[in-house]
Amino acid sequence: MNNELCIGRLVWNRPHYVKDPGTGRRVSRLNPPEALIITEVLEHRIIEGEPWEQVKGRQWEIDQDPRITAIKATRFWEKKGQIHLLTDLLRCGTCGGGFAAVGRDYLACSAARKLGTCTQRTSIRRPVLEEAVLRLT
Ligand SMILES: [Zn+2]
Repeated sequence: MNNELCIGRLVWNRPHYVKDPGTGRRVSRLNPPEALIITEVLEHRIIEGEPWEQVKGRQWEIDQDPRITAIKATRFWEKKGQIHLLTDLLRCGTCGGGFAAVGRDYLACSAARKLGTCTQRTSIRRPVLEEAVLRLT
């Protein structure tokens, strides 16, 4: 069983592995959401109390947005290639949607690029962003 430490929670059982019949290599596939085992780990929170509840409330609001529902309906995560440092961690400052790879080295708002439902069309080079984040840690 695999796990992934998120902010304030531990998520188990995200990927499973299958053998690619063409190459014979083992490849990972994400399990459906109902297969995930999520455990709240309070000591891993980086914020606590009311700000935490505000953040969770905002995340819930974002999840209810029809644009987010439309993006999730595409099941884009099943088409993902490589996992990078900031994969699944970036949010668009305009619409709150996730970021997607544009070409080999750029990241941009997924809603703007794939659905046309966001006006934020600026992209950023992945190595530049990753280096900036690493410098902050
Ligand atoms: Zn956006």
